[in-house]
Amino acid sequence: MILKEYISGPIEANNYLLVDEETKEGALIDCSEMKQEIVDDANALGANIKYILLTHGHFDHVLGVNEMKKALGAKVYIHKSDVFMLENINQIMSLFGMNQKVEPPEYDELVEDGQELPLGNTKIKILHTPGHSEGGVCYLVDDKLFSGDTLFRESVGRTDLYGGNFKTLLNSVKGVLFNLDDDINVYPGHGPSSTIGHEKNYNQFI
Ligand SMILES: [Zn+2]
Repeated sequence: MILKEYISGPIEANNYLLVDEETKEGALIDCSEMKQEIVDDANALGANIKYILLTHGHFDHVLGVNEMKKALGAKVYIHKSDVFMLENINQIMSLFGMNQKVEPPEYDELVEDGQELPLGNTKIKILHTPGHSEGGVCYLVDDKLFSGDTLFRESVGRTDLYGGNFKTLLNSVKGVLFNLDDDINVYPGHGPSSTIGHEKNYNQFI
């Protein structure tokens, strides 16, 4: 599995391009801006990007959705509890002092806990991990966990935004993510990567 990382968008979110070496099927995890570099890399790999998988609906993770969807020919997936954030993206951005108007990102399919999406010879497993937002999900692909803003390296996502709840976040991390193997690699929505084992030992927030 080929993995490429991009720091993208207004709040430096991580976007990840994942491509199965054999079948060339791929996915983009989070989509913070229209980033030609990602399209070029996908083309250079001969990849067929099937999915744009949103870890949650916050604007800094979704601003590139409409353009990237066209450029990649992929379908956009999100949990139903965060759909309102796409629909109301202009109102939400104005709360953060960002007053430019954007087209609300459009999604194609909803994801839910326990669902699996085929990717080449493997699958993408969806884990619902609310707490940072109600519709926050993580995507598990083999030994890689894309944790969005649920779990960062030695930190966790903020829980003071709409729909956030620290107790719910703790349950998601301890009750769901920490049940995964220690050697699972964690690729967060912001900042450097980690492993489940490292977070069990060094994450002071949990
Ligand atoms: Zn967020």
